[in-house]
Amino acid sequence: MEKRLKIHLTGAVQGVGFRPFVYNLAKKLNLKGYVINDTYGVIIEIQGKEKDINQFLISIHTEKPPLAHIFSQEIEQLPQAKFKDFEIRSSKAVGKKEVFILPDISTCEECLKELNDPKNRRYRYPFINCTNCGPRFTIIEKLPYDRPNTTMKKFKMCLDCESEYNNPEDRRFHAQPNACPVCGPYITLYTSDKKLVSEKQQALKDTVALLKEGKILAIKGIGGFHLVCDAS
Ligand SMILES: [Zn+2]
Ligand SMILES: [Zn+2]
Repeated sequence: MEKRLKIHLTGAVQGVGFRPFVYNLAKKLNLKGYVINDTYGVIIEIQGKEKDINQFLISIHTEKPPLAHIFSQEIEQLPQAKFKDFEIRSSKAVGKKEVFILPDISTCEECLKELNDPKNRRYRYPFINCTNCGPRFTIIEKLPYDRPNTTMKKFKMCLDCESEYNNPEDRRFHAQPNACPVCGPYITLYTSDKKLVSEKQQALKDTVALLKEGKILAIKGIGGFHLVCDAS
């Protein structure tokens, strides 16, 4: 006998890899249905065997992504439906905006490893991020938290980034700010009177050289400016 439940979760459940986590968990337990962000949090519908559903209800709390926090949970039982599969549906933009927005999150260990690996396609790419780290609050223009509602909407993902974004096994599955040197934002260096000096890796090299010369630089980060100089 199959059962169908509708689960409504509120809390820090957007921008933390919650939908991909739910997707993978539902697949593992042979559950059908969908997950969707709404302006209050996340709505999940699942249908399947009772023991799998019970396991699902435990695992969403015990195995959730490290940055996710569930504040409330409402469960409703519904008559069975004809779901073909489990899917991540695109977000609803209706209702009052009450979702808990996450702050920007510092680069995680795995991203740092890639950043310093000369063989990685994001070697020294300053805008590296994944589902567990990267900008959130600074880039969100409106809710729900989806790429078209962030300042990343201008950057169309390249094929490599898009396949990461669409692959449930990838650690960048549905990472909204996903980017790389081919398709994402890049750094530029300007003089104090706003003349362009250089871009990309050259800008990084020039910045290092200027610091060594004793110059003071203002580096724009995701949350503001950082003044840097050689303190010695
Ligand atoms: Zn990361
Ligand atoms: Zn890319």
